[in-house]
Amino acid sequence: MARLFDSARERLDAAAKHIDVHPDVLEKLRYPKETLAANLLVRMDDGSRRSFKAWRCRYDDTRGPTKGGIRYHPNVNLDEVMTLAFWMTFKCAVANLPYGGGKGGVAVDPKQLSPAELERLSRAYAQAFSNFIGPDRDIPAPDVYTNAMVMGWIADEYSSIVGHPSPAVITGKPIPLGGSLGRGDATGRGAYYTIRYIEKDLGVGPEKKSRVVLQGFGNASYHAAELLHNDGYKIIGVSDSRSAIYDPDGLDPIAVFEHKQKTRGLAGAPSAGKLTELSNSELLEQECDILIPAALENQITDENADRIVAPIIVEVANGPTTPEADAILNKKNITVVPDILANAGGVTVSYFEWVQNKAGFYWPIEEVHSKLRTFIEPNVDEIWRFKQDRGIDMRTAAYVHALNRIASAVAAHGTKAFFAS
Ligand code: NAD
Repeated sequence: MARLFDSARERLDAAAKHIDVHPDVLEKLRYPKETLAANLLVRMDDGSRRSFKAWRCRYDDTRGPTKGGIRYHPNVNLDEVMTLAFWMTFKCAVANLPYGGGKGGVAVDPKQLSPAELERLSRAYAQAFSNFIGPDRDIPAPDVYTNAMVMGWIADEYSSIVGHPSPAVITGKPIPLGGSLGRGDATGRGAYYTIRYIEKDLGVGPEKKSRVVLQGFGNASYHAAELLHNDGYKIIGVSDSRSAIYDPDGLDPIAVFEHKQKTRGLAGAPSAGKLTELSNSELLEQECDILIPAALENQITDENADRIVAPIIVEVANGPTTPEADAILNKKNITVVPDILANAGGVTVSYFEWVQNKAGFYWPIEEVHSKLRTFIEPNVDEIWRFKQDRGIDMRTAAYVHALNRIASAVAAHGTKAFFAS
């Protein structure tokens, strides 16, 4: 398979065909602005020291400080971090946030570490990258297997390095440390607002009891499932890293979540009818109206795209579909609501958190929710209309939308020489 980063850049080239964009803009967006690698030397509970590879990438800062999560996963590597930072650049532009894109990661299996080891690892990350991140430079956030507690440790460590509290250096923090209300469910909520805004165009809705399958049952997917379920959508399948469960009669995501908390797995979760246990890949191929991949990248590939029967895919994960799979899905007339639109709720509320930290003035939850909706809906509307007008897929429409914004920011820098032919 092509490197993830090469596949990601194919999206840029595909979008560039639909607008008149100066080649210098494309050249600027072809490579990351800067990337830093470090070895985190961490004291383990048994007294030994272990090294963990870590990275942070600032992809492009034309529209503002770079923004993007930190991932803890054994398979994290430089290619993945650069790709995620590339996607963040376009996501922040799609969402019209005053940010460029960045991302970070540590190659670690956090499930193998004790809480104290995880804290030392997170503080080591803050130390290694303290000159690279910063409230006006590069602002991390949570991603796979990092959470509010990890963000709190990094904010605390960074603040002691710079000598004063600096909550705006990172978002997704615990509420008492300057976190925003509504950040916890923001990614799932953003996907939910997106689906509800175009559900009539997509031919789904609660009144049809449209059936939803979600891959992953973490932060992003759980909240999307809960909100859709509360409105009357029928959740019929979910999975985690170990297994998948499916019941065409419906699952209550809250009951499944409680079951997973108790047993640490999905097997045997309560459901309305007959529960089947499947593998993660089998779940993707089940009959449903909306498939929501919400775990990791490269889940829908040229190997399994032909077997996907869902007419709509909403990408809550980053990069779950490869470009080869996209071509197959397009041929099958499957509508893919792309990641840079569908999961932009998380970074949008992260932006709200940063604004609140800078202002020292905190908003009630209703304000966070209504502002989130206000940010999401116009972009969904514009991208949907552009897709319809041009007869292109929604991903290309979203990239064109973002590329337009980035290109006009490059032009607005007024670098005439840059554009002189
Ligand atoms: P999380 O750690 O809370 O949950 C990840 C989920 O994926 C877990 O349920 C885990 O069991 C499952 N999983 C892990 N490996 C798997 C595999 N091989 N197959 C199937 N499931 C697997 O992470 P999250 O924050 O919910 O992130 C999930 C996706 O959403 C990622 O692609 C992330 O980049 C993206 N995302 C998250 C946010 C956010 O704010 N959390 C924002 C935008 C995008």
